[in-house]
Amino acid sequence: MSATILIIEDEPAILELLSINLQHAGYAVNTAQDTRQALAQIQSVLPDLILLDWMLPDQPGIRLAQQLRAAPRTREIPLIMLTARGTEQDKVDGLEAGADDYLTKPFSPRELLARIKSLLRRRAPQLTPDPIQAGDLRLDPNTRQVFGGQQALPMGPTEFRLLHFLMTHAQRVYSRGQLLDQVWGDHVFVEERTVDVHIRRLRKALSPARQDHTIQTVRGAGYRFSTTHTE
Ligand code: CA
Repeated sequence: MSATILIIEDEPAILELLSINLQHAGYAVNTAQDTRQALAQIQSVLPDLILLDWMLPDQPGIRLAQQLRAAPRTREIPLIMLTARGTEQDKVDGLEAGADDYLTKPFSPRELLARIKSLLRRRAPQLTPDPIQAGDLRLDPNTRQVFGGQQALPMGPTEFRLLHFLMTHAQRVYSRGQLLDQVWGDHVFVEERTVDVHIRRLRKALSPARQDHTIQTVRGAGYRFSTTHTE
């Protein structure tokens, strides 16, 4: 699953350069040239990461950052501010407005890609291709394979995404609603019971290698991934 990045930048040449570089690196790219367009974009597709220019024609990018952080739907989106302003106070303001990182123009596309990768790894590890190992269980997003020890554990695409999300957020408990948002996608109207169906299929897929215990039900709260046995 490739990450979708929204670039908010009013200078067409920079916007194009960024789009080409990010697409080349395998990201899906959406663009906006002011904060109004950006909000409309976000309304229709929730991006996995936002690149936000500081100086925009309708209002400062920093104001948009504050708005995004104040709204439950957009609060968690990883955000990198791009700016020609490089004073320490600007950086502090940007970070206080909710930016996760800050790049001063001009920057090299390589540096930007490295920052994006590291931010996604930190904030949305299920969107990176890094293989994950937890106990005997190993999941490789590149080959879309899961192994329990030496044994391959075939599973459907939804079960794979569900396991990938849970493994990258081990120990944390997620409600059915949160799992729908994270794994099925925002704006998808699926009944919460659907989650239970896929959890059951996932456990069944893991059971030949006795790894089904890693998908744990937390009564009244939801599900979690843990390699520790619980009762
Ligand atoms: Ca600008």
